[in-house]
Amino acid sequence: MDYVEHIVDLVGNTPLVKLNSLTEGLAPLVLAKVEYFNPGGSVKDRIALRMVEAAEASGELKPGGTIVEPTSGNTGVGLAMVAQRKGYQCVFVCPDKVSEDKRNVLKAYGARVVVCPTAVPPEHPDSYYSVSDRLVQEIEGAWKPNQYANQQNPESHYHSTGPEIWQQTDGKITHFVAGVGTGGTISGTGRYLKEASQGRVKVVGADPEGSVYSGGTGRPYLVEGVGEDFWPDTYDRGIADEIIAISDAESFAVTRRLALEEGLLVGGSCGMAVAAALKLAERRGPDDVIVVLLPDGGRGYLGKVFNDQWMAGYGFLPPDSSGATVGDVL
Ligand code: PMP
Repeated sequence: MDYVEHIVDLVGNTPLVKLNSLTEGLAPLVLAKVEYFNPGGSVKDRIALRMVEAAEASGELKPGGTIVEPTSGNTGVGLAMVAQRKGYQCVFVCPDKVSEDKRNVLKAYGARVVVCPTAVPPEHPDSYYSVSDRLVQEIEGAWKPNQYANQQNPESHYHSTGPEIWQQTDGKITHFVAGVGTGGTISGTGRYLKEASQGRVKVVGADPEGSVYSGGTGRPYLVEGVGEDFWPDTYDRGIADEIIAISDAESFAVTRRLALEEGLLVGGSCGMAVAAALKLAERRGPDDVIVVLLPDGGRGYLGKVFNDQWMAGYGFLPPDSSGATVGDVL
């Protein structure tokens, strides 16, 4: 018989998939690391597992404890799945820009969800950072993984994502491209790839226009899960060789093209990362192997990126496009 003990045992070992249509006319090989193959549906399963196991080992998380975390959804799913396996409760705090679909997923896993306004600074008492701090004080046996400061976040990528990419490309990777949220993915994966290649691999961050990583002040943008208005401890400033800023309009246009032309139904931050990878590929040659990480799937965004009315409302599609879907035969 061929089976695993628990769904959590399937975290990691995601495939690399070649991009074909989007890279037409470009010289490098561009490979997508498709993280929706993780059992919770995103790259965040990796950090959830490692953060929980480290907290158990250190005694911070005790049997029957409650995991409290500010999360835009994906980290929550990973934590909820791991918590289910190990018998913990979960309370998640989300900004209100996170889609209702994503919040309902967390509830389906048995978590409690608290929603906070997006348009307040992190130090504001209603910010999702402040509210989660308060809940940690109030709930007995609470433990906050704190994905923005927990070094197990980048470590999980140093020990899994990085080695996987190195092995899958047979050491031929020349560039790694990833969106930056907590910075865990780019810092951990990037550090591993630089060490393995003795500094040859270049690391490129993709960031929403307006976020601090690309020189902004944190002006609101619509792409979810990436960009920050502060510098988290999980972001290692010494890893990225370059940061490319991408507009919401471009992120969403590329996200739609990934589904239409590559059969990859993925989230908006994936379109952002691929947009950056394509800009990089335009200036690179045939010997280059660019790996771009796609953090999650697109089903959590059907009411947004993949909804014509929503897109037209923000001016990302012409106003008369609300009837037909892109690609419809009329
Ligand atoms: N995309 C999505 C959809 C995410 O949820 C996250 C995590 N916040 C990221 C990208 C960025 O990953 P990281 O936090 O490792 O920088």
